[in-house]
Amino acid sequence: MKYVIVICSMFLVIMLALGATAQTAKNPHYSRTDIERLNVTNSEWKKILQPGVYHIAREEGTERAFTGEYHDNHKKGTYYCYVCGNALFSSDTKFDSGTGWPSFYQSLKASSVKLKTDQSAGMSRTEVECARCGSHLGHVFNDGPKPTGQRFCMNSAVLDFEEKK
Ligand SMILES: [Zn+2]
Repeated sequence: MKYVIVICSMFLVIMLALGATAQTAKNPHYSRTDIERLNVTNSEWKKILQPGVYHIAREEGTERAFTGEYHDNHKKGTYYCYVCGNALFSSDTKFDSGTGWPSFYQSLKASSVKLKTDQSAGMSRTEVECARCGSHLGHVFNDGPKPTGQRFCMNSAVLDFEEKK
């Protein structure tokens, strides 16, 4: 009987460990150390990403305000690209914008993101893409706080937060 319990609990531990790495196991492009630019087609991303993430990252969608995981996250840590693992933002530059989307006044490095002019929806905005995988992350506006005056308005669904221990 004792052995059965031991074997069962070992099995449970293995299943939990597999569950924790499911994101990286299913996504072969995710890496927090590799900085090489990715060239992955949308049809391949579609097989890897959950539909909600795919819609924002690859079809320039926007999650509904106040529905994401991180707009009210005040923990210290780093925000990575959910799609590829590229380090994007530090909690040190996060601020409460009141918009319902996680907002930052600066990217981790200027080279972490790529800015593009976006003329869709009858507006002229600046789109923010992940510099490594080219996924859409959100937009940047010029009404942010000091010292940069910028407001990176991001979608939680394309961010992957790791708390600083
Ligand atoms: Zn990325």
